[in-house]
Amino acid sequence: MILVDVHAHMDFPEFENDLPEVLNRAKNVGMVAIISQGVHHASNQKVLELSKKYPLIRPAMGLYPLNAPNVAVIDESQDDFDRKHATSVDDTLKFIRQHAAEIVAIGEVGIDLHFSEDEQHQIDNFTRILQLSNAIKKPVIIHSRKAEKLVLDILEDAKHRNAVLHCFSGGKKLIQRAIDLDLHLTVTSNANRSQHFQMMARTAPLDRLLTETDAPLLGPVVGERNEPQNVQYAVEIIAKERGITPDEAARLVYMNYQNLFL
Ligand SMILES: [Zn+2]
Repeated sequence: MILVDVHAHMDFPEFENDLPEVLNRAKNVGMVAIISQGVHHASNQKVLELSKKYPLIRPAMGLYPLNAPNVAVIDESQDDFDRKHATSVDDTLKFIRQHAAEIVAIGEVGIDLHFSEDEQHQIDNFTRILQLSNAIKKPVIIHSRKAEKLVLDILEDAKHRNAVLHCFSGGKKLIQRAIDLDLHLTVTSNANRSQHFQMMARTAPLDRLLTETDAPLLGPVVGERNEPQNVQYAVEIIAKERGITPDEAARLVYMNYQNLFL
């Protein structure tokens, strides 16, 4: 089976001690690419470094919305984001532009209205990132927690199609809107315990579906570290929901990956 994980965080400290083993386990189940997301400037540097050392890791560089220093957050102490490594938006975007030829995508970027009420600065940053995506012709991988409709509004206004909605939690209507806007959607490795992502696997056109883990987060088993090899469970859910074999599902996802990223 050919597997791809279009959203993981291989630079996170959870993988520091056993990254080669994690990557070997992924290879053994058929993984051909793990798109590792940068979440701030230092993370972008680390992702690039890792991709040079381990060819299975394909680098994406981004700026997690809550890591942007100009965005006010509700509670600084949350471990969902990392304000310590806040580098200016200008410098972060400049670095991404300089390394445009080395990356496969811009991510993780987007808008988060769960841990921040600062809509305007997030919209400003995200709009600049979409402009960069157009300029360097790389797709964006988007986080849209509690901001699903807003993100779709912005993408529609900008006529921006070159995008993946990562872990998209909008309801059926918003999923349909995303499909009408030609966007890509992902089925996650924890879809076994999520009615929502089972519905996504059933609803989205087969030429628009991708698979992701968000490792080390969102594992199939609550409380356990997630890792890219678990993307096989996302493929199994697609196969089950569409009445096709896992091999067929994997092949379709791989084709979508090639169309969007290569
Ligand atoms: Zn992520």
